Amino acid sequence: MKTDSLGRTLPRAGRALAVMWALSCGGAANAAWTYRVDVLGGSPTARSFESAIAANTVAAMDLWTRHLAGGAAIEIEIELVGNIERAAGYSLTSGFVRSESGIDVYEQGVAYEIRTGWDPNGAEADLRVLLNHDYVANELWFDPEPAQRWAPVPTERTDAVSLLAHELGHALAFNGWWDPPKGQPPLHYGSTWDLLTHYDGEALYFAGAAATALYGGPVPVTAGNNWHIGNATGPGSDLLGDLMNGVAISRGIRYDVSALDLAMLADMGVPMAPVPEPQSALLLAAGLAGLAALRRQSRRLSAPSA
Ligand SMILES: [Zn+2]
Repeated sequence: MKTDSLGRTLPRAGRALAVMWALSCGGAANAAWTYRVDVLGGSPTARSFESAIAANTVAAMDLWTRHLAGGAAIEIEIELVGNIERAAGYSLTSGFVRSESGIDVYEQGVAYEIRTGWDPNGAEADLRVLLNHDYVANELWFDPEPAQRWAPVPTERTDAVSLLAHELGHALAFNGWWDPPKGQPPLHYGSTWDLLTHYDGEALYFAGAAATALYGGPVPVTAGNNWHIGNATGPGSDLLGDLMNGVAISRGIRYDVSALDLAMLADMGVPMAPVPEPQSALLLAAGLAGLAALRRQSRRLSAPSA
């Protein structure tokens, strides 16, 4: 697997991906969400949190997937390490989406699997979250009931479900290769995030249509911490409470996936579950009833051939 210095997977050759694309037409989408979580490495102390890490990871994944269309079998690798300060998350491969103005656009492998029903790396892990083992042992608070999330988060600890959901957000879509404020040269490929960001010479913004409409303008990307939103001061200072903010996941606070995070996912092509408004749900029910009546009528009319 080819990765860059930040552990982001570089796109494979276009030809191989084109073959995968063709194969994906024959693949059937999963109807449900299933996760396999493997916890690897770590000190004995950190390893004692293994089952809590797995349970909190599943709950964190659910925070995202309950809003997404379809279903998929996602293989998650949690690696306990000593060489990063806190945490990181990324898909282990990427999937080709389209060519746009001579640039090949790729999405995170997990997003590709959700969108196409085709797992780009088979039974191998789809995404990896790195956690520093001291951070696990001394900073994170593992929710004893992570699906319910009702126990108070200790004020001196960071909620693990929140932190894991943030890292899973990177594995889903908040990732890429371009970093214009750091003088990143133009590349012939980019992520679905990269293609939607623009640098105005001073700051980077995410300009997807749904997110822009919801936020009331392009969404400020964290200065010096691309693939995140919000800033401690200036543009985006109202986004510090967002799960995908790039300033801090504060102690004692429980974060959830926000409407803005979901709008950004939708802009990046991740298929969203339809959210029927009460009125449209009623209309749908009325429509189905009407359809049933029509079917009954049609059955009566065509009874001899039924
Ligand atoms: Zn992050």
